[in-house]
Amino acid sequence: MIPLKTFVSERRAANLLAQIRWRDGVYCPRCRAESVIRYGSYRVFQRYRCKNCDRTFNDQTGTGFEHSPVALSKWFFAVYTYIRFNTSLRQLDVEIEVSYKSVYRRVQCFLRALDAPQLHLEGPVKIDELCVKSGLKGRERDSRSRSRGLSTRGRGTYEQDKPPVFILADRGSGDHYVLPAKAADESTIRLLLAVGQQESLVVYTDGFRAYDPLDEDDTFTREYVVHGDGDVHVNTCESHGSLARSWLSPHRGISEDKLTPYLRVFQLRRRVYRKPGKEALKTILETALCSPTIYATRA
Ligand SMILES: [Zn+2]
Repeated sequence: MIPLKTFVSERRAANLLAQIRWRDGVYCPRCRAESVIRYGSYRVFQRYRCKNCDRTFNDQTGTGFEHSPVALSKWFFAVYTYIRFNTSLRQLDVEIEVSYKSVYRRVQCFLRALDAPQLHLEGPVKIDELCVKSGLKGRERDSRSRSRGLSTRGRGTYEQDKPPVFILADRGSGDHYVLPAKAADESTIRLLLAVGQQESLVVYTDGFRAYDPLDEDDTFTREYVVHGDGDVHVNTCESHGSLARSWLSPHRGISEDKLTPYLRVFQLRRRVYRKPGKEALKTILETALCSPTIYATRA
């Protein structure tokens, strides 16, 4: 159920923001001191004064929603429908009556706040990669990538407008990761699988030669994936890949520099997929609001 009440009441939206943001207690977004006192209010938001640096702040300070003439409840609606239903920003511009430019700017700000997913691999891990046709949307297209006859062998690279996307399925933890990379080569694969654990990590791969060095490395036990043998784990990984593809399809030609934050959205979307509306909204906001990058960019 869509948490409608939060999208029509500014006070409810403000309460939710405060609840999520200060879940470990209120602290100063500028100096991080915890010695703060309540200090009146700013619109519907609680205001505070920091006893350490003597400056004031409110529930919105330092978040991507700060200094917006648009109601917080509308932004919550925008972010919710964007993550949950893959709503286009053009559509949102009509729905919440905010200019496309403004929606775009806030959503980008929100996406930047999403942290890179932390990998905690327990193994066995199934690794697979797919190429996303990302193109040069919004920028000049060079004709070089169009030539077919001299195309290089192997899988896509970032430079060829086809950044590889790795899909990791960790059977141990049950987690899935969708991670864009600059290239589908050995060093990238090592970086992805670097987990610093004592025991050898079991990795299931296909016959792609960039995985070959794993054979000679004691850190890994390489197993080959036999496609179509009905292994549940393999199937999960593959279905995750096709989901990633369909998630990207309405945004065909997404520019390369946007691909990383975009796939983080995909991850987040998968995480809230089975959650009820209210829970989903909370998780979405937590992911963006409790990320330290917000403060880093504002420091
Ligand atoms: Zn302070």
